[in-house]
Amino acid sequence: MLLATDLDGTFLGGSPEDRQALYQLIASHPGIDLVFVTGRGLESVLPLLADPTIPQPDYIICDVGCTVVDGRTLQPLHEVQGQIDDKWPGEYRIQEAVGHIDGLIRQDVPQDRRCSYFCEPDVVTDELYNIAARLNCDLLYSAGWYLDFLPRDVNKGATLTALIEHLDIDREDIMVAGDTLNDLSMYEHDFIGVCVGESEPGLIAATEGRARVYHAEAPGAGGIIEAFSYFGFLGEEGICAEARDDITPGTSDLVIVYHRLPYEEYVEDGLMKRRPHKSPNGIIPTLASFFKDGKKGAWVAWSVQDDTLKKFETHTEVDAGKYPNLIAARVPLSKQEVDIFYKKFSKEAFWPTLHTFWERASFDDDHWQVFCDVNRKFAEQTAKEASEGATVWLHDYNLWMVPAYLRDMRPDLNIAFFHHTYFPSADVFNVLPWRKEIIGSLLQCDYIGFHIPRQSENFIDVAKGVMPFEVTEKSGCAPRFLTYGCAVGLDEMTTEIKVNDRVIRLGAHPVGLDLKRVDNALTKPAVQQHMNALREELHGVKLVLSVERLDYTKGIPAKLDAFERLLEEHPELHGKVTLVTVCVPAAKEMTVYNDLQTEIEQAVGRINGRYAQVGWTPVQFFFRAVPFDELVAYYAMADVMWITPLRDGLNLVAKEYVATQGKTGGRGVLVLSEFAGAAAEVKGAVLCNPHDPAEMAETCYFALSMHPDDAAARIGEAFDVVSYYDIGYWGQAFLREVAASAEANGRNIPNQLSVVA
Ligand code: UDP
Repeated sequence: MLLATDLDGTFLGGSPEDRQALYQLIASHPGIDLVFVTGRGLESVLPLLADPTIPQPDYIICDVGCTVVDGRTLQPLHEVQGQIDDKWPGEYRIQEAVGHIDGLIRQDVPQDRRCSYFCEPDVVTDELYNIAARLNCDLLYSAGWYLDFLPRDVNKGATLTALIEHLDIDREDIMVAGDTLNDLSMYEHDFIGVCVGESEPGLIAATEGRARVYHAEAPGAGGIIEAFSYFGFLGEEGICAEARDDITPGTSDLVIVYHRLPYEEYVEDGLMKRRPHKSPNGIIPTLASFFKDGKKGAWVAWSVQDDTLKKFETHTEVDAGKYPNLIAARVPLSKQEVDIFYKKFSKEAFWPTLHTFWERASFDDDHWQVFCDVNRKFAEQTAKEASEGATVWLHDYNLWMVPAYLRDMRPDLNIAFFHHTYFPSADVFNVLPWRKEIIGSLLQCDYIGFHIPRQSENFIDVAKGVMPFEVTEKSGCAPRFLTYGCAVGLDEMTTEIKVNDRVIRLGAHPVGLDLKRVDNALTKPAVQQHMNALREELHGVKLVLSVERLDYTKGIPAKLDAFERLLEEHPELHGKVTLVTVCVPAAKEMTVYNDLQTEIEQAVGRINGRYAQVGWTPVQFFFRAVPFDELVAYYAMADVMWITPLRDGLNLVAKEYVATQGKTGGRGVLVLSEFAGAAAEVKGAVLCNPHDPAEMAETCYFALSMHPDDAAARIGEAFDVVSYYDIGYWGQAFLREVAASAEANGRNIPNQLSVVA
């Protein structure tokens, strides 16, 4: 079976429900070959291919029949295309031949093997027809405004017929669908056909009384479904032959989908057991807090399906005391899937690209398939948990493809996405081989949040290169964010777009801190003792502190080089300043970090070898994770916090330092890379460019020699930001915006969100 359909007004027309039903019917009948037959140029069809809710065509006939390509490879079908090409005189010959005619306006839409103009009827004279005839072209004039030069005898119907002959398909198995006179040629080859509801009267009149043409009631996609029944096109079972499993909605009004479970798992006596996370980052407790007071919800995350365990529980409690109605829904993944999806592919392909280190990225199509399969599993589990019209909150790039699958399974859901990782500019992001699929998926969301406006606007730029949309709202970024003051500042951001008939809202939500964690640490006697010990040890020596994971994005070698330069240029600092570098090792299997580790160790050895004196080590390097409480003691004692990533989504360490200094009345100085997301938000920091070695050394010196009153004023300003925009603010503000996006799409605000709003 082959369905050849016009796009605008036909396959893409009708109600959203009818479109969804038609697309799902086609997806569940793999025996149907789908051919798009459109007046659009191929360039204008491409955005549809990035929309995961629209079935992929097997062939595309575009330019009113002048172009025919394979739907998957987008390569021309030479056997058919060659015959059309032979007749085409070339656009420049036509341009030249009509150049002297007033009133012809060239259409600025993509077009191949045709020349399209706008003109009033009085411009379409015999002279124009004579020019067309001389050039072996047909002239097509419609709706008193559109004029096309086409190769002679080429139209939608003729090219479709040539394609069908080439494919050797039985004519009885073909159905055509259209809505305007421009589709008439498809009905003239004796295929069964449908003119969908609200078709152009001219088409209805021209096909009136033809036994093989059905005039449908419903417009667009609904008309095609009607015709399926009328002609028995889908065989004996008709539209009931739907192969897809219907998913029964669940009972959760809010579903969090996060790669980490809200608890830590460990195995004891062959059983999987649970305990609270040892190092909660603040996000997990905040997300869980939405389920306080008995609110119902689900948390979808992966868990390794270990065959040695007695049984795999898909659902578990999270914390029956605190959140009695929150359940964890575990997506079972094999160890191999976790390794590829999480540890390998995400880190090797996406992480470097997102952080603008695209030359380090490696792309493996088999791994992408595993990534998609895992994302589909997440979507399936989510679809089963979410109640009718529920809100689903997805987290980070590991779950990029979930919206595509989920929207298809559950069109009713309010889908929100928060991107925790940096989002780069289009020049960099477009290197990803699967950028169209990823953007097509994200555009299925109702709300998308990033840390800062720059990242959100980068997403908009990437999306603009994938499909056309209308920007319906922009907002100024000041005073909340720096606009011109740092490399990732921006003065205005897009906050709403319209893609087809759906509204997508966007916002900037830098993740905040749980300040109680810092308070707790500061009240612990062990932390106080550690601070006292450090005070004694550092007597007369200023402490410059650097804390980060072992990662090339963090710019550790550049920082060590800058420290060496500082000691070189300022001998008066010898014996007076120490750099303490805490570097958290990566997991063993992440061998991509081995070289970096060696480079850092060599630099530390070189600097210490060059400058160390009895009783003074210029660089103290801790290659291990330091517990949070211990870190807080260092934060409290550090005169300068030196955080200089080459690129960072946000950087929580910077905020933790500010919080600790703010709470202890400290006069430390935060020196922060202007490429960290936090630089756009945390005012009062001394910003520097980590790519500029001279500036790196200078800003560190500036911070070390800052007057204590200036330092106090700066840290006070930063503490105001960090303490006001805390983690609670982040979660509440995000969900408030999600509620607004639900409203913009005409959905009821789910219970869970009306409480937050
Ligand atoms: N951290 C820690 N021990 C360490 C180093 C870091 O607990 O030895 C924590 C730190 O407190 C912070 C997080 O790890 O909360 C790092 O977050 P950040 O946003 O700065 O960087 P990311 O690792 O997410 O890129």
